[in-house]
Amino acid sequence: MDELKFTFYGVRGSYPVSNRKFIKFGGNTTSLLFETGSEIFVIDAGTGIVNAGEYIQKKENIKTINIFLTHLHVDHIMGLPFFNPLYNKEMRINLYCFKYPGFKYEDKIYSLFNQPLSPISQKGILADLRFYTFGESVNTPVIINDNTRVNCLKDDLHPKSGVLIYRVDFYDKKIVFATDIESKKGFKGEYSDFIKNADILIHDSQYTDSDYRSKSNPKAGYGHSTVDMAVSNAIKMNVEKLFLFHYSPEYSDKKLENMLKHARKKFKNTYLSKESKLNKLRR
Ligand SMILES: [Zn+2]
Ligand SMILES: [Zn+2]
Repeated sequence: MDELKFTFYGVRGSYPVSNRKFIKFGGNTTSLLFETGSEIFVIDAGTGIVNAGEYIQKKENIKTINIFLTHLHVDHIMGLPFFNPLYNKEMRINLYCFKYPGFKYEDKIYSLFNQPLSPISQKGILADLRFYTFGESVNTPVIINDNTRVNCLKDDLHPKSGVLIYRVDFYDKKIVFATDIESKKGFKGEYSDFIKNADILIHDSQYTDSDYRSKSNPKAGYGHSTVDMAVSNAIKMNVEKLFLFHYSPEYSDKKLENMLKHARKKFKNTYLSKESKLNKLRR
């Protein structure tokens, strides 16, 4: 219980990739699994959650899984129909997201299981699946156990409906997960209060600065940050460690390693998120 383990099961943005040039850091889309004592929870359900599900199925004592969604863009939910614990009738699975105007988010999730997108049908889900909406059916923090809480803050800098930034508090340690944000001006105000002095900041780093500003195919306005934005936020927020995350699916392992070199010139304690690598935060 004195450590919080976290494993990146998907580190890509936009769509999954499979090719030998992506083997080192991985090709699955966003999913991050946390484990402390006998509690397991997950942030985002991109294709990475499929392998997270395989891992969870091998553990005998897990009966409840909390899945926190940052938003409903398809790269963050597309793994759900292939998440094995959903087909285990002993399992209770709680999904969390923010309120979208005009529709219930569970309807969008169920559409992944129903015709014509899938032959499974939502009736094929055997687990006790429940949906929670922040500000409506649940408030933050969500208590995982006596020493672990999940907080969130809505950021509107991602098209079109915004995104949740999550912060996991473990004793007095903090891990911030800030993906799908275009942080041109850096964190300010309540974002700064929420993130400042985190032990670990996992930050959207989809693009290099030159690709972001490219004349022929600029990426500005797509809702994603550059490595430079991530580094600048890490410095301003006085975080201990920065993980680059949500890589462009066009970027090879080699390009990611060059991004890391570039980042470390300004912030030495920068790391690349790597699929299946176990990381630990000790109290
Ligand atoms: Zn994304
Ligand atoms: Zn997105």
